[in-house]
Amino acid sequence: MSKIVVVGANHAGTACINTMLDNYGSENEVVIFDQNSNISFLACGMALWIGKQISKPDGLFYADKEMFEAKGAKVYMNSPVESIDYDAKTVTALVDGKEHVESYDKLVLATGSQPILPPIKGAEFDPNSREFKSTLENLQFVKLYQNAADVIEKLQDKSKNINRVAVVGAGYIGVELAEAFQRLGKEVILIDVVDTCLAGYYDRDLSDMMRKNLEDNGVELAFGQTVQAIEGEGKVERIVTDKASFDVDMVVLAVGFRPNTALGAGQLETFRNGAFIVDKKQETSRPDVYAIGDCATVYDNSINDTNYIALASNALRSGIVAAHNVCGRELESNGVQGSNGIEIFGLKMVSTGLTAEKAKRFGYNPETVEVTDTQKPDFMEHGNYDVTLKIVYDKDSRVVLGAQMASREDMSMGIHMFSLAIQEKVTIDRLGLLDMFFLPHFNKPYNYVTMAALKAKD
Ligand SMILES: Cc1cc2nc3c(=O)[nH]c(=O)nc-3n(C[C@H](O)[C@H](O)[C@H](O)COP(=O)(O)OP(=O)(O)OC[C@H]3O[C@@H](n4cnc5c(N)ncnc54)[C@H](O)[C@@H]3O)c2cc1C
Repeated sequence: MSKIVVVGANHAGTACINTMLDNYGSENEVVIFDQNSNISFLACGMALWIGKQISKPDGLFYADKEMFEAKGAKVYMNSPVESIDYDAKTVTALVDGKEHVESYDKLVLATGSQPILPPIKGAEFDPNSREFKSTLENLQFVKLYQNAADVIEKLQDKSKNINRVAVVGAGYIGVELAEAFQRLGKEVILIDVVDTCLAGYYDRDLSDMMRKNLEDNGVELAFGQTVQAIEGEGKVERIVTDKASFDVDMVVLAVGFRPNTALGAGQLETFRNGAFIVDKKQETSRPDVYAIGDCATVYDNSINDTNYIALASNALRSGIVAAHNVCGRELESNGVQGSNGIEIFGLKMVSTGLTAEKAKRFGYNPETVEVTDTQKPDFMEHGNYDVTLKIVYDKDSRVVLGAQMASREDMSMGIHMFSLAIQEKVTIDRLGLLDMFFLPHFNKPYNYVTMAALKAKD
C-alpha cells in the first residue's frame, strides 16, 4: 500500500483522484489538500454565466469533497500547502489555521495556474487574498468561481453603475467575456497588444472573421495597443494605452495564465515559463513526484517537443495518466495538439496544431490550403451552411501540422480527425484519399476535407 498525497483538486486533481480511487481504491491511502472552498468549477462556463446564457452556476461543478470522501480519501479543503520537503517526503499545510504535516510515498502536484499580471500601473493583486482580487475596486481577474460571482454581483448592484467595461486580452477568454458583457447591454472595449484576436490559434484570414464578427456585434476593438495604466480614485475610472484613454467602470484582465509552481522552487526542474517539466508518465525531475494540469508541461506533437498549453482537456488526460503510473500501471500520454474551440455571437471556430505563422517560427516550411464550401450538396435546400477549412502542412515532409475551421453551424467534430492526423504524422496526401462516406444529409462526395487535401501543391 502507498500513501499518495495530491495537492490541488480542481480539474487535473479531480481526474487523477477519481481514477486512483475508482481503479485502485483500497490498495492506497489518498490524502488531498486544496486551498479553495470549492473544486471542479468549469471556468469555461464563466462567460456563459456572466452573459446570462445560462441562468445559474450550479451545473458548472461536477465534484466535491463528499464525493472523494465517499470513495475513501481524506480531504482537506481551505487548506493551502505551504511547503514541501522532498527529501523527508512531507508536505506542510495550513489546516484550520494550524500547521499540519503529512508524509507521502508518492506526491501529485496539481496546483494549476494563476492569472498573469502584466506590468500595468495601478494593477495589483490584493496581497491578503488568495482569490485573485485586486486592490483597485472593479479591476477584475478571472479564474475562480469567486471571481465570476464577484463580477456578477457588481454588475447587478445598480449603485455601482457599471456601464462601460474594458476587457484586456483578446485570447479566447477575453473574447468570450467581451461577448458576455455585450450581451448584457454594456459598452465593451476589447484591448490587445497584438493587432488581431485569437492570434495564437488562427491565421490572419480566420482571426479577421472573428474580428469582423465582434465589430458587427458592437464590440469596440482597440487592437495593437499596449495598456499602460488603470486609473481611478479607489475604483476603476479609466484605462490608458499607448495610443488612447478610455473612461470605463470596470476592467477585466485576461492576458493569460502562468503555472503555479512556487511549491517546487529550486527543487524540481522547470520549463521556461516556470511549469514543472514532466515526462510522458507525468513524472517530474524527482522520482515519486508527479505534476499534472496547468502547473506542468505537455508533450506537443505538432512541434515534437515539450510545451506549455493550459487547457482543461489536457488537465483531465494528464490526471488520468498520472493516476495509473502513481498506482503502479505504466501508461504514457499520447501528447497533445492544443485542440481548441470557441463560439462567439454564433460564429464557431475550432483549431488544432500550428497556424502557418507559428509553424514558420518553429522552423517548418509551412504551406496552406483553404477551402470554403457548403456542408451538403446544393440540392439540399435546408440546413445547409458554409464551412471554411484551412490546413497547414510542411512542404518538405508533407505532414499535416495544423487545421482551422469556421462556420455558423457546428462542424467541430471535424477538427478531431486533424488532431489525430498531427499526432500520427499523417501526410496531406493520405488525407486527400481518405475513405470518407457520402450521404447528402451530412456532406458532399467532394467534401471540403477531400478538396482541400487534393488542392495541396506538390
Ligand atoms: C475563464 C476561463 C475559461 C476557460 N475555458 C476553457 C475551455 O473552454 N476549455 C478548456 O479546455 N480550458 C478552459 N480553461 C482552462 C482551464 O480552466 C484550465 O486549464 C484548468 O482549470 C486547469 O486545471 P488544473 O486542475 O490543472 O488547475 P486549476 O484549475 O488552476 O486548479 C488548481 C487547484 O490547485 C489548488 N491549489 C493551488 N495551489 C495550492 C496550494 N499551495 N495548496 C493547496 N491547493 C492549491 C487550487 O485551489 C485549485 O483548486 C478556461 C480557464 C478560464 C480561467
